[in-house]
Amino acid sequence: RKTLPHDERWTAYLQDVPNYKEEPIRPAAALNGVEKPEGFEAWYQTNVYQQRQAGYVTVTINLPLGDLTARQMYQLADIARQYAGDNVRLTVEQNIVLRWISEADLPDLYRALKAVGLGDAGAGTIVDITSCPGTDTCKLGIASSRGLAGELRRRLGEKNASLPQAVKDLKIKISGCFNSCGQHHIADIGLFGNSRRAGNRKVPHFQVVLGGKWRDNAGNYGLAVGAVPAKSVPILVDTIINRYAAEREKGESFQDWIGRLGKVAVREMVQPFMNIPPFELDPSFYSDWGDTRVYGIADIGVGECAGEVVSLFSMEISKAESVHFEALVALDDGDYITAENKAYESMLLAARALVRTQYLDVGNEPNDIVEEFRTRFYDTQLFFDPFAKGKFASYLLDRHANPPTKIDEDKAHRLIEEARLFIEATYACEARVNGVIVN
Ligand code: SF4
Repeated sequence: RKTLPHDERWTAYLQDVPNYKEEPIRPAAALNGVEKPEGFEAWYQTNVYQQRQAGYVTVTINLPLGDLTARQMYQLADIARQYAGDNVRLTVEQNIVLRWISEADLPDLYRALKAVGLGDAGAGTIVDITSCPGTDTCKLGIASSRGLAGELRRRLGEKNASLPQAVKDLKIKISGCFNSCGQHHIADIGLFGNSRRAGNRKVPHFQVVLGGKWRDNAGNYGLAVGAVPAKSVPILVDTIINRYAAEREKGESFQDWIGRLGKVAVREMVQPFMNIPPFELDPSFYSDWGDTRVYGIADIGVGECAGEVVSLFSMEISKAESVHFEALVALDDGDYITAENKAYESMLLAARALVRTQYLDVGNEPNDIVEEFRTRFYDTQLFFDPFAKGKFASYLLDRHANPPTKIDEDKAHRLIEEARLFIEATYACEARVNGVIVN
């Protein structure tokens, strides 16, 4: 905008917008008796939706990871002009939609899409994973959301045909960090990138967020239940969907099943996948999906760390994690006061774990912890996230300064989510300050 000379055409179309009317370019006609190519039925089941107008359907073009080559864009433009007119629509699920398709044209349209590599079935199913750019191109990315999405799509695609319909209907959404551009908070199975430290190495992880709801206008946000090494996510997803398939009651949604299991059982399901094997035993855990480089450090600044098995910080932050989990359980039980208090306590414990990396003698009093945290990590901006700046620290500082007088479910839920982000920021700060190389 600053350097290009102005062109009237950029905005000229805006005055015509109120008169815009989308109309079909082909006459409505039923599919009856038209010969169908191989693969058509599966595609028809998942990618074609009836419009209100008889004889017309909407077709979803399923784009793996939302990707489309420049050549495919030209080819798609030709196909769209032939069957749908000048309009295509992009969806928040990273697909493309063609409207006003005459049903009788579907077999030819399918052949045309297939010929240019855009005829994949499975739109809106478990293989149709939404993912933000993550570490591929986003400078805020912590883990490879696209790498993981590609791996999950490959694995789930191999067995998609044999999965029960209830599993096929699940949504998986992945973000490369907490910012949720991949919409992880409204997925049945949501994942967002973070990292954990194992000795002197950094291990890419994903926080698992279960029970979000994309229907009813994103009617419910899922809650984080544990951070799992990136390389363990596919097998955890397998475990979750297999259990859901085996245990669900007739007509039971994923959200209801997760609610019926309860946080303790959900945590027990996730826990075995949270372990990080030693580098010498399995170095693959120390690189991300789609990236063969191993994360590590040449010099972490404090010589003893190389011999450190479990750091004091690791032990203390795990206490914060436990208390955060107790908050989730209390929320499940409808005990909102305990849930809110536990969320606050988990932030205090995380802050204390961080403070003790600099000042071992800090006490247990909330005022002491908060003041030391403020002086050492907030005022110095050491705790600041490159994107969110001091936002995560303010979750603790605000709650400490202004304890709520009335606690309801929403308030407890919100503080639990804020505590999750505060704890994640604590891990990141500790890794930054104490010498782990962040690639
Ligand atoms: S969620 Fe994070 S990594 Fe993904 S695009 Fe947004 S800011 Fe970048």
